[in-house]
Amino acid sequence: MSDSYQIGLPDEQAMVEFGHKIAAATAGKGVIFLLGDLGMGKTTLSRGVLRGCGHQGSVKSPTYTLVEPYEVGDQRIYHFDLYRLADPEELEFLGIRDYFDEQALCLVEWPEKGRGMLPEPDLIVQIELDGLGRSLSLVPKTEYGRQLADKLLDMKG
Ligand code: ADP
Ligand code: MG
Repeated sequence: MSDSYQIGLPDEQAMVEFGHKIAAATAGKGVIFLLGDLGMGKTTLSRGVLRGCGHQGSVKSPTYTLVEPYEVGDQRIYHFDLYRLADPEELEFLGIRDYFDEQALCLVEWPEKGRGMLPEPDLIVQIELDGLGRSLSLVPKTEYGRQLADKLLDMKG
């Protein structure tokens, strides 16, 4: 499971639209890690996923709360931003295990900060600068993640 897939997204709108595609491809479950420096577009992509899942309200960055839960119909989506987590052990107090049940979709910004306390992701999305836009690498880590990446590539364009 080491192949990675590259996708170029020239602007914010393309990022949001790619989020819609992720929403359509996931069937509302899975664990997706979002890697990339501050300002790379992890929250923008998460907003696209949430919108694509049908969430109509605002999407705030859970920088201080660490996790923001969403319910859309009977679907649950958890958006994490672990940037401010001082110690991965703190996730224990957050009841971290309950979030990663199989019926939810989990989007995790800064998973590095939760090392040792998070489950393996299905898919890693690594975001890098590419001129004024962004380049995304999709790295599947499970069979489900590979199916997800394949679907996303089929949807390209
Ligand atoms: P992060 O959560 O990774 O810190 P944000 O989602 O807050 O980053 O986005 C930071 C900035 O990057 C925003 O101003 C957003 O408009 C911009 N941005 C997002 N995706 C792209 C893209 N594909 N190309 C150019 N700019 C983008
Ligand atoms: Mg962010």
